[in-house]
Amino acid sequence: MTSTQRSKAMYHRRRAALTAKLGGKCVHPGCETTEWLEFHHTDNESRRHWRKMNRWTRIKHYELDAEQGMIELRCHAHHTKVGNNAHKNNKGKDPA
Ligand SMILES: [Zn+2]
Repeated sequence: MTSTQRSKAMYHRRRAALTAKLGGKCVHPGCETTEWLEFHHTDNESRRHWRKMNRWTRIKHYELDAEQGMIELRCHAHHTKVGNNAHKNNKGKDPA
């Protein structure tokens, strides 16, 4: 295994652990999707800076923000669909 492959595997492991921690499925009501999940940042203000980060910095932020309850899981379809209104739709909702 090359160091690139090892690094990639480690990233996927961290991502998988965080996914499991967040419930392992899309938060959209009625959606039970467990594949193609993406991390949705519910704090829209800080989201715009994230493009510049590499994946290690980004996953670190995902982990920290997940602790604050600022990250939720969405399947690709619902992530795209909800966009910037997600935080409004999920206000007061208990994390699973
Ligand atoms: Zn979904």
